[in-house]
Amino acid sequence: MKWLGLIFNGLLLFFFSYASHCGEIEVLSNLTRAVKIALVSDVHINRGTNQALYQYNYEKVIEQVNSAGVDFIVVAGDLTEDGTAVEYADFKRLTKRFNSPVRVVPGNHDIGNKKIGKNKNEITFKRLIDFHQKIGKSWFADEVYGVRLIGANSPLFGSGLGKEKTMWQFLDNELGKKSDKPVLFFLHHPLFQKKPEEKGGEYWNLEPAQRFRLFGLFQQAGVSAVFSAHLHKPLTNNYNNVLYYTTHPVAFGLPKGKQKPGWTLITISNTGIKLNQYFIKSTLKQEDKTAINLQNDDRNN
Ligand SMILES: [Zn+2]
Repeated sequence: MKWLGLIFNGLLLFFFSYASHCGEIEVLSNLTRAVKIALVSDVHINRGTNQALYQYNYEKVIEQVNSAGVDFIVVAGDLTEDGTAVEYADFKRLTKRFNSPVRVVPGNHDIGNKKIGKNKNEITFKRLIDFHQKIGKSWFADEVYGVRLIGANSPLFGSGLGKEKTMWQFLDNELGKKSDKPVLFFLHHPLFQKKPEEKGGEYWNLEPAQRFRLFGLFQQAGVSAVFSAHLHKPLTNNYNNVLYYTTHPVAFGLPKGKQKPGWTLITISNTGIKLNQYFIKSTLKQEDKTAINLQNDDRNN
């Protein structure tokens, strides 16, 4: 597999939304057609102060995704603010508006933070089971027009819960041998931010033990790209011929007032993987301000 550098340019799409074409990567494949996947994340559906704003943003993103005519949608975690029954019900009701099949994985807001012994609100068995009951399974494998999509539950990594073992067995099985098709991997947490070997014990990345186990599986299967969220701003890395891309969020961007919300269109064809960032302009100005301030107060991403 040969990789080219990222190519950046801009493109005005239509009023109230725009996209920037932010990357093109060569990947060897034998696809019969280009496959379009929407990467949507950090929706943070809630019944609190930000209910109207975040719902509005999600509705706008859904409209854009439907206009883009995608084949498949992945919502990469933090579907809700607190993983309550009513939030899950609201999320499901809105998510039905997508015109294409949707898969989701949970984020730390849905089922709890990764377990490192010092995070507040760490993952619990009850919240995990709640997710499985109310939303569905928290990992997946799909094939869309010859492209394999694998999704994992990243807060579960390192938790020691019984379901973690089940998920590793699933991942070992799906990624255990070289794939003759392009493989894309999805999860909420980015594996790393600055360096593949960076330390864990913090909020934003995956712990090194699980990160390096995944690196090994990605090499075995020939994974082309890994897509994540959680940072509320975009990030692009390359390591071992794998693209690591983090999307900007639906609910609110960081830093406050600077990062616009939106989603990413992934197009995979025989010429490579292309990423287009789409943005929404919220009309709920005052609430937007409130939301960002609240967010800043409790680092509640
Ligand atoms: Zn998160």
